[in-house]
Amino acid sequence: MAAEKTDSVILSLTPYRETSCILRLFTQTHGLLHGVAKGVRKFGKSSIPLDRGFLIESLVYYKPNRDLHTLGSLHVSNFFPGIRSNITKSIIRDIALELYLKTIPQSEPHPKLFNLIVDFFTAIDGLPRSEILFPILWRFIHEYCSLAGFGIDARACGKCGIDIRYNRADAMSVSDDKYFLNIGSGALVCKKCMPSKNGTGYKINDTGVNMGIEVDADGLLDGSVVRFMDNIDNDFPQYPSKNDRLRITELLLLYCRHHFDIRGRFNSAEFIKSF
Ligand SMILES: [Zn+2]
Repeated sequence: MAAEKTDSVILSLTPYRETSCILRLFTQTHGLLHGVAKGVRKFGKSSIPLDRGFLIESLVYYKPNRDLHTLGSLHVSNFFPGIRSNITKSIIRDIALELYLKTIPQSEPHPKLFNLIVDFFTAIDGLPRSEILFPILWRFIHEYCSLAGFGIDARACGKCGIDIRYNRADAMSVSDDKYFLNIGSGALVCKKCMPSKNGTGYKINDTGVNMGIEVDADGLLDGSVVRFMDNIDNDFPQYPSKNDRLRITELLLLYCRHHFDIRGRFNSAEFIKSF
């Protein structure tokens, strides 16, 4: 039984017996993995107890075709203190963890997805401007969807093909229009091509996923969000209102639920509403 050293993110953890934990990990080398960490709950007073969202380094005694592996020499590389001490950052972290937990069924390596979530946590951990936390979450979800093979095309209108990042009248100035997200295809539709609200077949209801199709006001993405997702701007232009923070987050999670066929809502996203 060979031991491999690997980095991983703790997606969730469950106490196990007297002093151990079962960790659901997203590892750099094996993707999703369940591991038993023995004796981790008898740390001394000065040490930090393990928690979800931590980046750890450990040995994995990997046994092919087994569901549960043994972990050893566990070491916390980064517990992201800036996230732990900030409630909004913690909620945003939990949305990312829940996205991974709900959508990654296979135990196979995904080094890009591993880097994506580590980079995301690193970015929000040290972020002094809390107003761009949600835009950074949106970009993270957008990049995640792209890596999973169903990214939203944030450059051109899915119907007329026009570059939606700029005003049509003046190609140099950025557009503040809103764009319609077609949940099924991942295309954005410009104002000119947008179907009318009462048009045929375009309706998303609360449970969304099974309806499969497009629109109403809740299916709109703002121009600044679109450009930010596409990495054109280094900075998010304005502080999104509470309403927009919830609406856009919900819309992007609805998009994920549709494409990953997730029935249930995101608990972490429900929590923001009550917060
Ligand atoms: Zn168009």
